[in-house]
Amino acid sequence: MPTSIDWESVTREATVLLQEYVRIDTSNPPGNEAKAVEWLGQVLAAEGIAFETAESAPGRSNLIARMGPPADAVCLLNHTDVVPVEREYWNRDPFGGELADGFVYGRGTLDMKGMGIIELLTFVLLKRRGVALRRGIIFLAAADEEAGSAYGVSWIEKHRPEWLACGLVINEGAYGLTGIGGRDTPLFQIAPSEKVPFWLQLTVRGRPGHGSVPHGDNCAEHLVRALDRVAGWTQELRPTPLMLAHVEAMNAAGAMSTSGVADILKAAERSPALRARISNTISLTTMNTGIKVNVIPAVATATLDCRLLPDVDPDGFLAELKRVIDDDRVTIEVLNRFEGGESPLESEFARVVREVVADMVEGSQVVPELTSGFTDSRIYRSRGVPAYGFVPCLVQPEDLAGVHGHNERLSVDNLRLGIQVLYEVVRRLCAA
Ligand SMILES: [Zn+2]
Repeated sequence: MPTSIDWESVTREATVLLQEYVRIDTSNPPGNEAKAVEWLGQVLAAEGIAFETAESAPGRSNLIARMGPPADAVCLLNHTDVVPVEREYWNRDPFGGELADGFVYGRGTLDMKGMGIIELLTFVLLKRRGVALRRGIIFLAAADEEAGSAYGVSWIEKHRPEWLACGLVINEGAYGLTGIGGRDTPLFQIAPSEKVPFWLQLTVRGRPGHGSVPHGDNCAEHLVRALDRVAGWTQELRPTPLMLAHVEAMNAAGAMSTSGVADILKAAERSPALRARISNTISLTTMNTGIKVNVIPAVATATLDCRLLPDVDPDGFLAELKRVIDDDRVTIEVLNRFEGGESPLESEFARVVREVVADMVEGSQVVPELTSGFTDSRIYRSRGVPAYGFVPCLVQPEDLAGVHGHNERLSVDNLRLGIQVLYEVVRRLCAA
C-alpha cells in the first residue's frame, strides 16, 4: 500500500510549475508552442516519463505521453497556447507568473495552463506512485486551440491520428463554480457538449464611382441592408435536454431559481449567457469597405460569428440565412464548419466524478453544462470518442471574467483541489 500523498508538497510543486509555465509566452498568434512543449518535455524527462513531440509548423509543436495498457485509454487533453493580452488593462505582468494573495496571476492560469498543470501532476503522481493500471492514461498537450486548432488537434487528426486513439477525453469546457446566486455551494460542472462555431464571410461587389454621383449600386449600402435583415432575424429559444438538466441541477443546488421551459425562456430575456446556450446566435464581428470619403467602394465584406446548437445542421442554417438576406448580390463564404456532437451525460465518468466529489468536498453538487464556446473536444466527439469539459476547481464568478480578459488568476487552493479531485477520478477510472 503506497503512503498517502503529501498534498502540501504537491501543491508547492504545482504552484512553481504553473508560475514557470505562465512565463512562457504562448500568445496565439503566433503561438510559439514549441517553447511550451520543450518545457513540458523537461518536466516529464525528469520523472523518467517517455514522450513524443510533433512539429506542425515552425515554432509550433504538440506533445504526447502515455502510460499503461493502450486500450480504452483516458486522455488528459490540454492546449498550450493562450489568447493575446491587452497589457494596459492588467494590474500585473500577464507573463510574470506572480504569486500574490494566494493566487497565481497571468494569462492562461484559467484558460488553460492551470488545468494543464493539474493534468500533468495527475499523470506524474500516478507514475511516481507506481499505480498499477488496467487502462491507459494519455497526457496530450496541443497547440493552436485558441485559433481553431489547425496546428493542434486538427493537424494531429491528419498527421498523427494514432495520438487521438482513446476511450475518454477529459478537457477544459466547464469550470467548477462557487458563489453562484449568493451561495457558496460547491458546483462541479461536466460538459458533454458545446456550441458549434460556424464562421461566415459576406461579400458584396459593386460598381465603384465618385461619391458626388450616387448611382444606386453601392456595394456598401447593399451590405448594410443585408446585415440589417440578419440583425432582425429572431433566433428560436430552444432548451435542449442537456440545458434542461443543467437548469434543474442549478435549481436543486439553490444556485438558480428557474425551473421548467417557460421559466427558462423568461430568464433568458435577462441573461445573454443563458440565451446563448438555448439558441443559435449570430454576432456581426467585422465590417470592411471603402478607401476614402469621396469614393464609392467596389467591394464590401463582413464576418458573422455564428454559434449553433449542437444538433443543428449547418447547411440548413446557411440556407435559412440566405433566405433572410434575400439578395443574390451577397455571396457567403464558409470560413469554418464543424459537426456538433454530444457525449452521453450518464456515463462511468460522470458516476465516478459524482462519487469522488461527494467523498472529497462536503455539500458539493455535480451539474451538467453545455459549453458556449468551443474546445478541442469537438474533434473527438465527431470521431465518436466521449469527451467531457471538466475543470475540477471552484472558481468565483468574478474570476471568470479573466478568461480571455484581464487579471486572469487561479488560486493555489484551486490548484490543490483540482489535482486532488482529478487524481482521484483518473485513479478510480484506470487503476487495476
Ligand atoms: Zn481554452
